[in-house]
Formats: sequence, structure tokens, C-alpha cells
Amino acid sequence: MSEQIETEAASGGSLERLVRRRWLYTVTDWNDDETLVDENGDEVFRDDAKEHIATDAEAAIEADRRADLWETKQDALVARVTRHSQGIVSAPGSADRVRRMHMVDTGPNQYVGPAYVAKYRCTRCGTESEWQTARTIGEIRRGIQCPKCNPPNDKAHRQPPGGNGGAQKK
Ligand SMILES: [Zn+2]
Repeated sequence: MSEQIETEAASGGSLERLVRRRWLYTVTDWNDDETLVDENGDEVFRDDAKEHIATDAEAAIEADRRADLWETKQDALVARVTRHSQGIVSAPGSADRVRRMHMVDTGPNQYVGPAYVAKYRCTRCGTESEWQTARTIGEIRRGIQCPKCNPPNDKAHRQPPGGNGGAQKK
């Protein structure tokens, strides 16, 4: 995934301004030929293009940066640079918000199967698990997801608001 650019524009303003989207950028020359441009200012095919994650304000800056690179490399003037939204990105860090239960007791598995057994507890809601088998110590250390704090439909049914309309800049 492409690098995320943090700018002042990302740290203030309305919620809409903080929404991050996946962007692709094109430059259009004076013959109306539109070209997809990568992060180095080079032409890139759609299948190879990496989406850039950014807020709208950051995307505007990135679009200008790529257009400048393109102009330098091509020794040509860009008539128009366009940022195309490929859709919204879920809240930053949402993948890290999964609540995990941590091991409170462990030992060797007395039965057939994986080598260890362990019990886990969630520090948030206090739920304690049954004995669970584990193949490795690392697996035990990572813990397991808390079934109470991570309801299965938590994220799956969340719909991004609005459409994916591309924004354009002259
Ligand atoms: Zn919990």
C-alpha cells in the first residue's frame, strides 16, 4: 500500500475532511490525452496502479506533486490534473481496534491435538474463555478475539456514506 501523508490539513476541520479515500491520479495533456500517473510521476497501467490513501486535502497536494513530477520528466505541460476517488477507507486504525483476550492460564495439552491449552480473559469486559488448544506459545501470547467485544456484524454491515465521485481540479 502506498505511503500515507500526514499534513496539517488532516488534523482539523469537519469529519468529511477527515474521511480518507483511495485515490488514483491522472494528468491530461493539451490534446486531451489522459494518463494515469504513479507516485514517481511515471505513466502506469490501471492494473499496476497503486491506490493512494489520503484525505481530500492531502489528495489535492499529492495530485499537484505528481503533476509536477510528470511535467519535469516529460518536459511537457499538464493541462489538467485529476484525482479520482476509488472509494472510502474505513476509520484509521479500525483493524487494530479488535479486542483481544489475553492468556490467564496455560499448560500442556493432555489430549490428542495441538501441544498446548490456554485460558484467556478480556481486560475490557472480563469475559473468560473455556480452555482452548493452541499449537504454539506465540499463538497463546497473541490471545484470541473477545466474542463479546467484537460482535461478528460490527464492521461487515457498516456502509460508507455517499458515493465515490471523483473530485477534479483545474
Ligand atoms: Zn471483552
